[in-house]
Amino acid sequence: MNFNDDYRMLIGGRLDKGRARIDVINPATEVVIATVPDAGQEDLDRAVSAAQQAFPGWAATSIEARKAKLIQLAEAITANLDDFKCLLTQEQGKPHADAQREIMGAGHWLKASTALELPVTVNEDSDERYSETRHVPLGIVGAIAPWNFPMLMAMLKIAPALLAGNTMVLKPSPFTPLCTVKFGELASKILPPGVLNIITGGDNLGPWMTKHSGFNKISFTGSTQTGRSVMASAAPTLKRLTLELGGNDPAIILPDVDVEKIAKDLFWAAFRNNGQVCLAIKRMYIHTDIYEPLRDALVAYSRSVKIGDGADQETQIGPLNNKQQYDRVRELIKDVKSTGATILTGGHDIERPGYFLPVTIIDNPPEDSRIVQEEQFGPILPLLRFNNIEDVVARVNASDYGLGASIWSKDEAGAYQLAQRISSGTVWVNEVQYLTPLSSFGGMKQSGIGVEGGVEGLLEYSQSQTLVCRKKPA
Ligand code: NAD
Repeated sequence: MNFNDDYRMLIGGRLDKGRARIDVINPATEVVIATVPDAGQEDLDRAVSAAQQAFPGWAATSIEARKAKLIQLAEAITANLDDFKCLLTQEQGKPHADAQREIMGAGHWLKASTALELPVTVNEDSDERYSETRHVPLGIVGAIAPWNFPMLMAMLKIAPALLAGNTMVLKPSPFTPLCTVKFGELASKILPPGVLNIITGGDNLGPWMTKHSGFNKISFTGSTQTGRSVMASAAPTLKRLTLELGGNDPAIILPDVDVEKIAKDLFWAAFRNNGQVCLAIKRMYIHTDIYEPLRDALVAYSRSVKIGDGADQETQIGPLNNKQQYDRVRELIKDVKSTGATILTGGHDIERPGYFLPVTIIDNPPEDSRIVQEEQFGPILPLLRFNNIEDVVARVNASDYGLGASIWSKDEAGAYQLAQRISSGTVWVNEVQYLTPLSSFGGMKQSGIGVEGGVEGLLEYSQSQTLVCRKKPA
């Protein structure tokens, strides 16, 4: 193990202990595994001012040199893969295999993003005038990350922000700050001081950031409810915003699918990371012709899945990440029981320390019930029956959320046509959750504002500037 248990913030290139500390809990044991600094407002001010001091130099650094630094950061992550994997499981709960996938994904995101270019558009090149529109950095970005994929979600912000020439202050979730802090330690040896600052703290720190006048942009990933507060708080100083928010992703399963073949894929599309995935299948609409066989295959498969501490190599699903989320999902299970809907499997407590809940599958609950209408973000899935396309399209689209969706069918062309009728930022056919740094994704409706990934995502960390040069004096 290369990582020690000394967790410090990164401010202006220096590792900083802070004055107060907050506890970090392993959700599989409820035992405190580490403490991190609890930043005060003066720590935030120092981080912002370090980012401001670093900005002119970083913005003037060539894009090729900035890309080289991102590649070095990626290599530092992969060189410490095992340490990151174990630490991520301890703080987040996910099994080692999933933790490894996330850490690899984080490194990949940094590296692959370097294929992106900031476009320059020549508007006019005539005898009289030259005019071009280019993209210049915004300045200081405040980044706020969630606890479900702490490393990956942080890299989705760091890569485009730094590539476009901005400097950053990043705040991980208080539930999962450890890997991000260790990444900061590695970054302190690679990046010029102040280009990336990482601060940790409790519930006040996010709101202090969103209203801080030193930020030019806030890039936020988290729940829709918090997204609304972020937007309100950014308004007085007109900060730019990217909001990647919650989802209630539908899957539409058409009657021509091979039920036995896809049941396992569908199960994991809903339950990977214990359902704590923004793009997890959260409502599964199954055609009536295959409803019973698919329902039975999902339930049968769920009984083979091993739930436990993510550090145990046999574990396939770990605990929920935190008490708050555990209580919320239990509350939803209680609500399902109150509607009288049939719980096909799960629905009970697991008597052991840690925030463990069983895989819970609900049989065709009412469309207006909470488990269908709200984002559950946990291991509980409603199966919903439909028998005609117009009906299912209407039900799928009647949501304030519009993050992702998926359609499953042997008729790819037909499914592709249907995909165009779904109001979601991404619609997949015969898969879910496939993301790449080279294409954009984001939420429609209340699932977000703006996108991450692709040139479109990169442009959100820049502002367009048009330069016009009159060649002949008037
Ligand atoms: P959350 O909204 O509770 O917290 C997200 C982050 O915001 C944390 O760092 C938290 O400390 C901070 N925060 C909390 N209150 C704040 C405030 N008032 N002002 C500023 N910052 C504040 O979300 P979470 O529970 O960590 O994450 C789960 C949610 O994130 C789910 O809804 C999920 O769908 C969503 N999510 C979305 C995407 C996406 O790309 N759209 C990706 C991952 C997660």
